[in-house]
Amino acid sequence: MTRVALVTGGTRGIGEAISIGLKEAGYKVAANYAGNDAAAATFKEKTGIAVYKFDVGNFDACKEAAEKIEADLGPVDVLVNNAGITRDATFHRMTPEQWNDVLRTNLDSVFNLTRPVYEGMRNRGFGRIINISSINGQKGQYGQTNYSAAKAGMIGFTKALAQEGAAKGVTVNCIAPGYIGTEMVRAGPAEVLNTKIIPQIPVGRLGEPVEVARCVTFLASDDAGFI
Ligand code: NDP
Repeated sequence: MTRVALVTGGTRGIGEAISIGLKEAGYKVAANYAGNDAAAATFKEKTGIAVYKFDVGNFDACKEAAEKIEADLGPVDVLVNNAGITRDATFHRMTPEQWNDVLRTNLDSVFNLTRPVYEGMRNRGFGRIINISSINGQKGQYGQTNYSAAKAGMIGFTKALAQEGAAKGVTVNCIAPGYIGTEMVRAGPAEVLNTKIIPQIPVGRLGEPVEVARCVTFLASDDAGFI
């Protein structure tokens, strides 16, 4: 039986690598994205993976999309909550928009998409929810009170739902990557990256998206049922 995986923000960056990794591992994959149609079209052409455009911050849109994906591909067995954004500002300059955009995209999204697929997972006795948090949700980061709060919130969600899902075969896990070389990270000034961020990374380089994807593929597998 081919399992179905839904990856939010699955057309670019870390999500793209996750979508490809899961496809290579034998899953039917649905990759969500927000608005970058050109990147999604290139991704679809390159990988053959189905793409679905909707806003993970909108509950009704997520519910409708989950129903469509399940009608197209079958019940979702693996959900990877990966979509995320940054809107950095020191707190004394942060606007309500910057706060709300980051909280709804990074944290509300986890509720919005897990909720429509979770009951099916419970009823079928198998499910994998994998949330992509961040090292900055664990240690905090200057200029990222919004992002650090959202990413820390994902960790709390994960720990709580993991307790509810375990007896029904639904595992819930969180990966908190360090800095990975995607557009999100490279969008900042190169000088900050080279003088402030990379020197703090023990291996002396940015991570690669595929290095996160391999971890996701493992957590999605039957082998990870006790985690
Ligand atoms: P990218 O900016 O490269 O890609 C983000 C993806 O999320 C895109 O596919 C984008 O769609 C999608 N997306 C953004 N907003 C929405 C939305 N409202 N609805 C649906 N999809 C949306 O990000 P990364 O690959 O760097 O990051 C992926 C995840 O990993 C994020 O949650 C991030 O916080 C986390 N992370 C990243 C780290 C890093 O160093 N890069 C480190 C630790 C965690 P579109 O293409 O349409 O814009």
